[in-house]
Amino acid sequence: MVLDMPSAPIPRVFLGNFGYSESEIDKEAVRLQYAIRQPMRWSMEVCRSLAPLTLEINRLKKEKDVFLIAHSYQTPDITYGVADSVADSYALSKEARDAPQQTILFSSVRFMAETAKIVSPNKTVLHPSPDAGCSLSDSIEAEDVIRMKEDNPGVPVVCYINTSAAVKAECDVCVTSSNYLRICERLPGDSLIFVPDKFMGRHLQNSLWGKKEVILYDGECEVHAEFTGPKIRNWKKNMSENGVDLKVLSHPECDSEVLEESDFVGSSELLMNEAKRLASIGNRDMMLITECGTADRVLAETEGNLNLMGACVMCKHMKKTQLEDILQVLIDPYPEQIIDIPEGTLKRASKSLDEMFRLAE
Ligand code: SF4
Repeated sequence: MVLDMPSAPIPRVFLGNFGYSESEIDKEAVRLQYAIRQPMRWSMEVCRSLAPLTLEINRLKKEKDVFLIAHSYQTPDITYGVADSVADSYALSKEARDAPQQTILFSSVRFMAETAKIVSPNKTVLHPSPDAGCSLSDSIEAEDVIRMKEDNPGVPVVCYINTSAAVKAECDVCVTSSNYLRICERLPGDSLIFVPDKFMGRHLQNSLWGKKEVILYDGECEVHAEFTGPKIRNWKKNMSENGVDLKVLSHPECDSEVLEESDFVGSSELLMNEAKRLASIGNRDMMLITECGTADRVLAETEGNLNLMGACVMCKHMKKTQLEDILQVLIDPYPEQIIDIPEGTLKRASKSLDEMFRLAE
């Protein structure tokens, strides 16, 4: 593995053993290290310092009947230590809706926890890090959408799922990185407004060229904006000169120049599946153009050694949540850690998600 990953985690401050014996802690540390499958970065010392926390969180989850879901960009101690399910926000919101538990704990950024609440209005949705935002979601407010609608009367408004409940409430249909092309193509009329991601919007403009006009907003994901076409071209050229057939897998939140250099474009889940598929047919040299969490998952869930080239970029918002926050919210959540959306906003936002489910499935 030659990926330039963030520095190795350091052992946690000792919070106590929560009554677990040394042998229970040892066993849990072995389980964690095996599941994460990056022993050089996640040393036994680090895993041992995390073990009492993961044991206690897993015990509390059962005792309180909580369904804990984590986005793929969360750290491996969360995704492999305590999460009941790990996926992208769309898949997780559906799982939250269908789960028998009445309490959902969503380890992620704010808009994702809000989305889970919109699709499960009668459930309690806990969000451990209320200040974990997102550069894309925070780039736009409901008033911006209202203004665009006034400037373009009658034009349908499509919002990417990375938006607040208030923004979703102003839109006609919500989309994700796995269905935006299909849904936008199926919308009536010869134009649409797409918010807030300008990069995904440009990709959409290119795909719908000659069929529909796509009116864009100026938002971007600060993580995916870091990657540029020339950087990817250089990597590919260097690898090719060394006889390596590098496969480039990119997320559609990247600039269109990056996407043009890519062998595959898709959501986090699709990138994961494609990486696993490539590995299964012996194609082990790849570059994942997305947040570091996807690389963590690919490394943990793919058999054999992979050569993940280049550098991933870490989302500081996604990495705000730590096991300690999850433990605290399970024990006694603060009011701001319980997602509460005004009823009118929730109902209107729900319509844009229902429309997505109808058009996508
Ligand atoms: S990776 Fe980008 S889109 Fe995802 S939460 Fe972070 S800033 Fe937002």
